[in-house]
Order: sequence, then structure tokens, then C-alpha cells
Amino acid sequence: MTDPHEHELRVLNPATEEVVATVPAASEEDVAAAVARAARAQRAWAALAPADRARLLRRFADVVEAHTEELAWLEVREAGHTLGNARWEAGNARDLLLYAAGGAERLLGSQIPAPGGWNVTFQEPLGVIGVIAPWNFPMPIAAWGSFPALAAGNAVVLKPAETTPLTALRLAELALEAGLPEHVFQAVPGYGATAGRALVDHPDIAKIVFTGSTRTGREVMERCARLVKPVTLELGGKSPNIVFADADLEAALDPFSFLDNSGQDCCARTRILVHEPVFEAAREFLAGALADVVVGDPADEKTRMGPLISRQQLDRVRSYVPDDAPALRGTAPDGPGFWFPPTVLTGERPDGPAATEEIFGPVAVLLPFTDEQDAVRLANGTPYGLSGSIWTRDVGRALRVSQAVQAGNLSVNSHSSVRYWTPFGGFKQSGLGRELGPHALTAFTRTKNVFISTEGPAQ
Ligand code: NAD
Repeated sequence: MTDPHEHELRVLNPATEEVVATVPAASEEDVAAAVARAARAQRAWAALAPADRARLLRRFADVVEAHTEELAWLEVREAGHTLGNARWEAGNARDLLLYAAGGAERLLGSQIPAPGGWNVTFQEPLGVIGVIAPWNFPMPIAAWGSFPALAAGNAVVLKPAETTPLTALRLAELALEAGLPEHVFQAVPGYGATAGRALVDHPDIAKIVFTGSTRTGREVMERCARLVKPVTLELGGKSPNIVFADADLEAALDPFSFLDNSGQDCCARTRILVHEPVFEAAREFLAGALADVVVGDPADEKTRMGPLISRQQLDRVRSYVPDDAPALRGTAPDGPGFWFPPTVLTGERPDGPAATEEIFGPVAVLLPFTDEQDAVRLANGTPYGLSGSIWTRDVGRALRVSQAVQAGNLSVNSHSSVRYWTPFGGFKQSGLGRELGPHALTAFTRTKNVFISTEGPAQ
């Protein structure tokens, strides 16, 4: 990467370390100009009839659909995502556009009984929304922040991560191609310390949607507080996978519960908590499963796991896994590219750094628990609360544990986390606010209450 004082972003292919593209980095002035353009465009966008806004967003979905392969390949090259995952990601952007488009037509207010008149509420758009995205899922996360905001009548200025600006730039071009008015949806690639901060501090940005690390999220929230600016924060995670003795072990211990996207997934189940009676069986199963994972060129359709995003991320992951650490290990390619093998650490303390801090790589810890209470205590033993899985055939236990675990997105006998039609977000230091789901548009509106007197003139 270049340093923050330079004026360009060098996008590297993480599988080869070759430069894929060079993109100008937005300055504070560039961000301010984009916000000014967005503010002008937003007024006309909000004034469109909901059905017209919806029609344009559906057209945008069609254009995204027609460019699925192109978008997917950009994600393979700039982020090292496997081709299968990258195709799913482009499809997720299309699906969310269609879902959000319907929301534009259903953005309901309410009528509340009040004596002497009619009382009605309106959900008005906020104005210009600043969306700040991370590098781990550049396209879906840009979409989750931006598309419901657009559907609700806002304009969006999107700042992608330094390492992965290409899909964001292309989505903004495709929006124009679909007929969205100019400047309603703009991408401003740049560094966090300049373009990111400029967006957060800009008085005409009505709300910030930030996805990234908890450390940066905290700073974003502090800066927003000065302007009393609302913020949605989607931050880090260290999610448990709680496996009881009566579980389907093979399904519960699917290594892709923490290896998907090379573990660079905020919902990765990186704390594998296993009931003591099946602990040895779990260890044995995982050893075999890791050895079978095909790690390599993400452009090859047989590959299941690609590289990490950057040298910096590789160094960070390595720092948690000393060569002599007791661990189960798979394999990874040598040579250029940011490779790290699938790893399960087996000798960690439950309160140690590897077991409680977000590593954001293909590394999990394996820990035993004695009973249900112990499992819940371990599951809740980090500052995070984003996601988690609970594996048991006992319905009562599944319900008790899913009520006791402090996390925003749990799955029972499944490792799923994200659907565009269900709400997503974290507890504790994993975040604030929700994205996706039926209420996604409401998060981009403010409620106005209007009382209309029905009193006639005095007789
Ligand atoms: P990061 O916090 O370093 O950067 C995220 C974004 O913020 C980037 O666009 C960056 O340029 C920008 N930024 C950096 N400093 C800024 C500042 N001072 N002001 C404004 N913007 C600034 O995070 P990252 O390393 O890109 O992403 C990985 C993190 O994202 C992980 O912690 C992961 O768990 C989290 N994440 C969370 C979710 C979720 O939905 N909860 C989803 C994906 C990723």
C-alpha cells in the first residue's frame, strides 16, 4: 500500500501481489465536492414518486445482473475472493436492489388517533448518507449500506476501503447506466484518515453507515457525536460455534464456518466450543477436514479458500500463531501472494488473546466446555456479540442457549448469518443499529409527526 499522503490507491491482486489498478485517492476537497453534488441531486430524487424510484432501482438490478461476471471478476482480482463466492456477492447486490426497490413503495407512516383532528406520521429521507465500507466484502457491504438508503429517497456518497475500490466504482457507473440521476450514488475511493474522516466530519452528511474495525468505529462514533449525527456501526466479531454432544458433528464442525473468505468474515465462527464427551472426536474430525481444504488460486473454480487481503493482514494473522503453537494445520501455497493455511489452535486459554481478539484470518480456537452454563459463559466471554451457532438436537436447550447468548445473529443447527431480508447487526462492541431486513429503509428516515385540526371556524 502507498502511504496516506500519496494521491493514489494501488490495488494489488492478493493472490499474486501484482498491481491490478491505480485509482486516484479522493482528497478532503474531493469529498466536499461530492457531498455538495449529492445534496443537490437528493432533493429531486426524494421528490420522485416512490414507484418511479422503485422502477429505477429495479433497472439498476437488471444492469447489475447483466454485469455479474464482470463484477465477480473484479472481486476475485482486487480482494482474492473465490470465483464462486464473488458471483454470489454480485447476486446479493442485485437481490438487495430488488428488495429495497419494493421498500420504496411501502415506506409507511401511521395515523394515530388524536382528539380534535387527524394525527399522521411521515418517514422522511435524511438527506445525504455517507457509507464507509471495509475490504473484506467490498461489494455486499457497499450494497447493504447504500441501496436501502437510496430506496428511502437519500443520496449516497460511498467510500470503499483503500485496498478494494474497484467494485464500488463500477457499481456507481452501473447506476448511471441504469438511469439513476447523476450524483445520487457516488463512490469516492480514498484513505480513511482523509476521505473517510472528511465524510464523517462533513456537516451535510446526515448519517454515517460504518462497517469496519471496532477501533475505527469508536472514533467514527465520537466524531459523529460532535455533530449529533446518527451512525450505524457494523464492527468486529469473535463468534462462538457451540457444539453439544448430541449434535451432527460433521455439519457442526464444517471448517467453512470459519474459513469462508479466508476467515476475513466478521461472522466467522472462530471459537469452536465443544462439549467434553465429544471433544476428542471433534479434534480428530477437524484435523482431517483442514487437511482436505483446497487453498489456492481464487480464479480456479475448484479452490475453496484464497489468500488474505494484504501483507499487513498476513503479518497480523501470523502474530497470533507462533510456529510452535499447538494446532491443527492445513496447507497453503508458497511464493507470491498473501497465503496462510487453515489453522485450529488447540492449546489456547479461553481468556487469552487468540481466543478473545478478532484475528480476521483462517484461524479458530478449539475449547472444551462441561455443561450448558459453561458453554454460555464461554460464548459470552468477549467484548463482541455479532454472531454464533448452536448445535444440538434438544429443542429446549437450543431455545435456552439462543436466548442466553449475547449476539445479534444466531443460527441453530446451521452456520448461516446473512440474508438480505432478515435484520443484521451486533450486540456489545460488535455494533449499533441494524442493516437489511424489512426495516432497513426506516433506518434512513426520520419520523415527522403532523397534527391536522378538524375544528371548523368558531360559529
Ligand atoms: P477499518 O476499520 O480499518 O476500515 C474500514 C473502513 O474505514 C475503510 O474504508 C477505511 O478506509 C475507513 N477508515 C479508516 N480510518 C478511518 C477514520 N479515521 N475515519 C473514517 N473512516 C476510516 O476496517 P477493515 O480492516 O477495513 O475491515 C475489517 C473489519 O471490519 C473487521 O474488524 C471486521 O470484523 C469488520 N467487519 C464488520 C462487519 C459487520 O457487519 N459487523 C462486516 C464486515 C467487516
